Amino acid sequence: MNKHLSQLVELVKIDSKIDSFLPEIEKAKKNSEQIKHDLEHSKKIIEKIKTSIKEINESKVKTDNQIAKFSAKLEENAKKIASVKTEKEASALRLEDEIAREQLDSLNSDIERFEKQQASKKDEIKEVEAKIKSLEADFSKAQLEEEEKLNEIEKQRSVIYTEKENLTSNIDKKVLGFYEKIRKWARNSAVVPVKKQACYGCFMQLNSKVFSQVVKGDEIINCPHCGRILYYEA
Ligand SMILES: [Zn+2]
Repeated sequence: MNKHLSQLVELVKIDSKIDSFLPEIEKAKKNSEQIKHDLEHSKKIIEKIKTSIKEINESKVKTDNQIAKFSAKLEENAKKIASVKTEKEASALRLEDEIAREQLDSLNSDIERFEKQQASKKDEIKEVEAKIKSLEADFSKAQLEEEEKLNEIEKQRSVIYTEKENLTSNIDKKVLGFYEKIRKWARNSAVVPVKKQACYGCFMQLNSKVFSQVVKGDEIINCPHCGRILYYEA
């Protein structure tokens, strides 16, 4: 095989290896990213629960004010009843009393309901806080693991980078430029084998003239259909 061509075959393999590190890096980062996302989500949930506790508190204050109003009314009526002149007046006051008491009962049960709601919201917060604590522990662990994995990948990657440097320093600049141009669109299939007389990049059949040139391997041949660099794999 032509020296330039065999260098390019080697180079595309190295470039493929370099690219294969990217999904590995993403995979290594995935776990901690997921935990971070869960942590943020849990913190938002706590904020939401706190807001709803605040809202319940506002309703409670309003209800307390109404309770005070009705209690005052009852006190006032008690005084009035003492100085009432006719039975008619007395029964009107008793009716008012009754209504006020009913209102008070209902308001007091509202307060009870609000307090129960608040207590259960506070329990929810405790639960989420416990989850956050365990997520934070998971996160520290995941970060350590990530660092280890990334260091390992970096080690392997630097070996490949050195290989690439050694190889490219020996490749003719023009040939290298030609390869880079094709690589821009064809990525790791810039240099492809010919199998069953077909380009392994676009899978189109090659005519016998091109095919025999590729088999000879004396020069760099491009696929007439897609432009990729072809080599023959015996
Ligand atoms: Zn092709």
